[in-house]
Amino acid sequence: AKAEERGGYHFFEARMDAAMQARRVLEVDLRQALAQGEFVLHYQPFVNVRSGTVTGFEALLRWRHPERGMISPAEFIPLAEEIGLIVPIGEWVLRQACADAAAWPAPIGVAVNLSPVQVRSRHLVTAVFSALAASHLPASRLELEITEAVMLDDTESTLATLHQLRALGARISMDDFGTGYSSLSYLRRFPFDKIKIDQSFIRDLPARDDSVAIVRAVAGLGHSLGMTTTAEGVETVEQLASLEREGCKEVQGYLFARPLPLSELQPFLDPGQRL
Ligand code: C2E
Ligand code: CA
Ligand code: CA
Ligand code: CA
Repeated sequence: AKAEERGGYHFFEARMDAAMQARRVLEVDLRQALAQGEFVLHYQPFVNVRSGTVTGFEALLRWRHPERGMISPAEFIPLAEEIGLIVPIGEWVLRQACADAAAWPAPIGVAVNLSPVQVRSRHLVTAVFSALAASHLPASRLELEITEAVMLDDTESTLATLHQLRALGARISMDDFGTGYSSLSYLRRFPFDKIKIDQSFIRDLPARDDSVAIVRAVAGLGHSLGMTTTAEGVETVEQLASLEREGCKEVQGYLFARPLPLSELQPFLDPGQRL
């Protein structure tokens, strides 16, 4: 039994080594990716439910790895956060997204995801300011999406940063609403412009009564607090109909479009067009 245990332990160790090795390789590659221009942004439209028109696009980061192909953000953003690389990567995203959006017809805007690490960094406000200045994108067409993890920091400096971003004229959205903790107290502490209802609540619409009730409550809350509510991950017309019934203002999901490369946005860029 003893030898077996030891064998098992060695096997485990070897697997750990392999995992750490893979991580180290990814880390080296990630450090070079920015300089080598391997990042790209894809854009997914969000649509106003009542008018059926595109109001903006969310920028979603992709890594075009020379050997491994397209790598999804879920695979490299946690590592980029851990080693601090998310700050320069995030600045690149801001600049690129603002530059791309400046060419779109007003009032179509762009939403950029911010990591909690970026919000904590002292450079964020300057980075947003300079991305706006360099692109000439009006600040009112820039949305910044943050998650509840940002609010968990709950320091005066986090709130001050969010207020400074808003003072620049950018809008702030709470992303993945309902998946973290104490969401309601955050809504009171900070005046978000938009609440994005997490796709886990949209998935079972309209079959599950509890999901319907949650969407209705959040849409009502948003309305009372003067915030737009956006549903993420809308895939079916049944979900769309349910969201419209429950008072959700904006929708985003594969039903309208997958995240697309910049060159494929043309069909969505007519501001008067109904989808
Ligand atoms: P997120 O901000 O919640 O973005 C929504 C995710 O849902 C995206 O995954 C999008 O492609 C996917 N999605 C959109 N519509 C549908 C749908 O109808 N059905 C389903 N099943 N999925 C849908 P993606 O692009 O893989 O991004 C994953 C996460 O990575 C994002 O979640 C965001 O947290 C993070 N991320 C992406 N780009 C950036 C970035 O530039 N900076 C930072 N810090 N995080 C980013
Ligand atoms: Ca988002
Ligand atoms: Ca989200
Ligand atoms: Ca998410």
